[in-house]
Amino acid sequence: MNKCDRCRDREATILFTDDWQEWLCNRCFNKMISEEIGVTLETMPEEIEVNDHSGTRRNFTVQQRLYPNGIFIDATEGTEFGYQFAVHGELECNQTELFEKLKDKVQRGVAKRFTKVGEYPGGQKYSAIIDDEVVGHIDYDEMSSSTPMIVIDGQPYTWEQLGEMVNSFEGFQFQMKFYDKTDDVE
Ligand SMILES: [Zn+2]
Repeated sequence: MNKCDRCRDREATILFTDDWQEWLCNRCFNKMISEEIGVTLETMPEEIEVNDHSGTRRNFTVQQRLYPNGIFIDATEGTEFGYQFAVHGELECNQTELFEKLKDKVQRGVAKRFTKVGEYPGGQKYSAIIDDEVVGHIDYDEMSSSTPMIVIDGQPYTWEQLGEMVNSFEGFQFQMKFYDKTDDVE
């Protein structure tokens, strides 16, 4: 673990570069920006807990980030390749409302399921797309330098696994559209 250059306590996650360079933890980074632009981050819950489409409890870690162009809040599941959600607000926004917006986004995001596991007559399992759409996010696949990891329903699919699921739509048209992490998928 790389420690923060300022507090020398928490994990450094941000490499800050200006006339100088230093590794900062999220809290020290926010403090620095806060002093610079005169906006203070309000205290908010550090976790969000919701039930997903199957009634399974899912735990999210909340992280606030202050930038000169606004306030970002992330909700990330503790597991590797889990669900991730984020919202963005103006610097002068109501931060309580921004948090509620994130919570609402998490709840809506885990409420619908896009994939299912089926079983061939021989007992072999396969993954399939339930209706005619999938929503997820694109992550890094450390096993593959040329293709990403696709996270749907809070679980990872390799590009090849996604291809197998898409196979059943042969002959269909499709639309591929990308959204910023903080946008709402229409
Ligand atoms: Zn620090």
